Formats: sequence, C-alpha cells, structure tokens
Amino acid sequence: MGDQDAPVVTDFDAALREGIERVGVTVAIDGSAGSGKSTVSRRVASRVGIGYLDTGAMYRALTWFALESGVDLADHHAVTAAADQMPLRMDSDPQDPHFFMGEREITLDIRTPRISGVVSQVATNMEVRHWMAREQRRRMMEARANGHGMVAEGRDITTVVCPDADVRVLLSADPEARLRRRTLELYGRVDAEALEATRAQVQGRDAADSTVSEFMTPAAGVTPIDTSDLTIDQVVDQLVELIDRDVRSRLK
Ligand code: C5P
Repeated sequence: MGDQDAPVVTDFDAALREGIERVGVTVAIDGSAGSGKSTVSRRVASRVGIGYLDTGAMYRALTWFALESGVDLADHHAVTAAADQMPLRMDSDPQDPHFFMGEREITLDIRTPRISGVVSQVATNMEVRHWMAREQRRRMMEARANGHGMVAEGRDITTVVCPDADVRVLLSADPEARLRRRTLELYGRVDAEALEATRAQVQGRDAADSTVSEFMTPAAGVTPIDTSDLTIDQVVDQLVELIDRDVRSRLK
C-alpha cells in the first residue's frame, strides 16, 4: 500500500471511529530519527480518522522562519520572539501534510539539509521548547475536545507535551535499521556513500537532541515498540489495538 492510498475502513475501524467520536483520543508517539514514527503516525491517524501533528515540522518551520528573518539562532529570546510572530499554517491531513508560512508553501524547504543541519540549535533552546510544548498541547487538547482527537509525534510528547495522553508509545529501532530508513528517505537509495553521509547527520542530531529530551528509554506507563523487524503495517496494527483498548475502556 502506498503512503497516499486511502485506507480501507473495516467494520473494526468503523466501530473504533464511532467510539472516538464519543470520547475523543490523544495519541503520543515519540522516537528518534528513523524509528518510523512519522510514517506510522500518519497511517494510524488516517486509519482511525483523527488529526496528525508533526511536532518536528514545527521546530523545522521555526528554524526556517528565523533564518529567513535574519534572526541569530544563538539568540534564544530572539528565536522565541520569532515563534510568536511566525504565521505558520499546518494542514493536518495525515495522508498529505502541507506546511505554509503565510502564503508561502514550505513543505519541502523544511526538509533540506540546510534546515536539518541547524534545527537542533533551535530545539535545544529551552525557551523555544516551552513555547512549543504549550502550543502543541493546546492543539492536541482542542482536537480531543472536538470529539475527535490527534496523533502527535516527536521526541517529548509522551513525557513533556502530553504525559496524560490516552495512548503513549515509544518507537525504537536498532541503529542500522534506523540508518537504512533515513538514507532511503533522504537519497532514494541505500549505497555506501549515501549511508555514510546520512550516518554523520543522524548521529549528530540524535546526540544534540538527547541533551534535552529522553527519547531512547520509555517513561513509566509508556509502551515501547521495537520496530526493527516489524513491517509498517504490523506497527500500525499494534497502535490501533492500543487505541481500541483505551477507547473501549472509557466507553464503559
Ligand atoms: O522529527 P524530525 O526529524 O522532523 O525533527 C526535527 C528536529 O526537531 C529534531 O532533530 C529535534 O531537534 C526537534 N524535535 C524536538 N522535539 C520534538 C520534535 C522534534 O526537539 N518533539
């Protein structure tokens, strides 16, 4: 099944969607680069009919906006002030997410090495992290209260942004599996040259990110899923199962 294909709604999924409309749901998914969280989160959101929040894209968008506005990334107050000013629009269609800054589409711009190379500078700014946590939590709670819900993925969703999420999962994968996935995503091929270029980038980013969030060890109450030897569909099935169990327990 391709990423863009509309999911087939089974009777099981339809019953779950109905349950979610009655009680709402928040799903928090954390994991490192290449753990598969983005693909999995998008599939889960479209299958159960709820919104999708890519929190990494918010950090990337702020990085893009700060650079574009000539803000020094080392100036913590100035970057946080830029966050207050940025006209970020995200459409939360999980099948095809698009990001805009004002009228300008930045969906592809925020994935370039120019941004990936410096996004950790913005993400290790604690003032920015507070701003992001507040904004991300607001979006999740609003979606839940509207009789639907949201899957949010990132590094600190299960621990800081929404430790009270209805379903909390930490995805992990062994380092080589993560590296292969990220390489394929970035270069469309997995050969020695592409692997080495990706290795340097991913390791540097994980090292910087891990100084401000713990996304390698599950916090209490968070379900760990090792995705190394699982297909995307198998991981999605496990998550849908967890959501179903939670929603049914709250319908009683
Ligand atoms: O997930 P993605 O690779 O797009 O995230 C980009 C960057 O945003 C990460 O390297 C990390 O620095 C930051 N991030 C974060 N906390 C999150 C999500 C992303 O620090 N919840």
